[in-house]
Amino acid sequence: MEQKMFSLGNLARIWSGRAPGQLIIQMTDQCNARCPQCEMRVTNQYDRKTMSVDAMKRAIDAAAANGIQALSFTGGEPLLMLDEMAPLMKHAGSLGIPFIRSGTNGYVFKNPEAAGWEDRVKRIADMLADTPVRNFWISIDSVVPEVHEKMRGFPGLIKGIERAIPIFRERGLYPSANLGVNRNVGGTITWDIYPENFASEDAYLDSFYRGMRGSLQKFYAFVRDLGFTIANTCYPMSIDTPEMQQGLAAVYGATSLDRVIRFTRGERLMLFKALFETVPEYRGDLRIFSPRSSLLSLMRQYEDGAKAEGYGCRGGVDFFFVNSVDGNTYPCGYRGNESFGKFEDLDLAKIDRKASCTDCDWECFRDPSELVGPLLEGVHNPFALAARWMRDPEFFKLWREDLVYYKACEYFSGRRDMNLDKLAKFESGKAEITYVRQPVAA
Ligand code: SF4
Ligand code: SF4
Repeated sequence: MEQKMFSLGNLARIWSGRAPGQLIIQMTDQCNARCPQCEMRVTNQYDRKTMSVDAMKRAIDAAAANGIQALSFTGGEPLLMLDEMAPLMKHAGSLGIPFIRSGTNGYVFKNPEAAGWEDRVKRIADMLADTPVRNFWISIDSVVPEVHEKMRGFPGLIKGIERAIPIFRERGLYPSANLGVNRNVGGTITWDIYPENFASEDAYLDSFYRGMRGSLQKFYAFVRDLGFTIANTCYPMSIDTPEMQQGLAAVYGATSLDRVIRFTRGERLMLFKALFETVPEYRGDLRIFSPRSSLLSLMRQYEDGAKAEGYGCRGGVDFFFVNSVDGNTYPCGYRGNESFGKFEDLDLAKIDRKASCTDCDWECFRDPSELVGPLLEGVHNPFALAARWMRDPEFFKLWREDLVYYKACEYFSGRRDMNLDKLAKFESGKAEITYVRQPVAA
């Protein structure tokens, strides 16, 4: 059954001042990959923790009772817990949670020539297809297979993904390609660019922008050609640079000090600009999550060096993260100083509905917050929304385009193929580089 983003239930929630809620459960921080961009890599020795099935079930029951709409099972590596996760997905679906998600680092697809590969992949695809999982992501770090496989530590991974996608599609599962943006996306092009080799910071940033732009173009073409129909981009999650330290303390280990994932403010602006320009070029070929209205807000944030006008993140308001280490709930994976205790003990009705945080770029929370922000503002203060619309038409033009595009993408259902006829009107060819900062009136 196709779930609608704008169902009556969700409209009622928005009317009552709440965004359709989201809960991310980190089942475990066990992982078997070697990613330099993540503290949970297998080579990092520390005491790992896995949540019990009962603890996860209690959180899911509470999520359903509170009308949470989106439930993600993450890790570590989620497929290490497939035997536990599949029944939990069914349980969540039986309670009426419509948007159930998970993913993999792809280790099950490595070495596709090995004996038993096809049987193993078919068994996994069968198990997932038998759950109500709506979106299943497969991580991709680079368009150069050897680079991606070296980063993850799994040989033969890209060939295996290419062979696995038809197996999933036969079972009605259309996986999403999940790019964690890093300097190796396009191979080693952006990795090799160092500021000290340039005459000025502007010259460096221009070169960085062009490298990242070309890398992102290659990425969308690459995953399309691999057989993906949905693509998402995870914005860089290093919060440990001096530029990003704002009292955040990650409880989610998906961050790292490695240069491959650390970006300065200037680089982030160029990165978001590159993404902003590249997304429309491929909207006719793929269902691409990244909303351009949200990217505009992020560009403004990094360009202004301050909290630019935009909609605050609903982390800790409507969106929550349950951490495998202590089983407690946090506003997100990065505000580790603010434990809410167990999710089932949390009284969501008592939470302040004001969302203002912009301290990191976590797209899982930032993108939907930006999309739902105008609706919530319109319900509760239509005059404020009208005034904002008047002084910032650029944002609202993009926001409306995003909503129209999301509809054409059938809200990214990973249980059906993309409809190329619906996407055709978004064919744009190679876009001009059009981003020009529009001053936002005070
Ligand atoms: S990014 Fe994912 S796959 Fe890589 S080490 Fe971290 S949890 Fe594991
Ligand atoms: S912007 Fe959202 S995800 Fe990031 S620190 Fe703030 S609440 Fe957390």
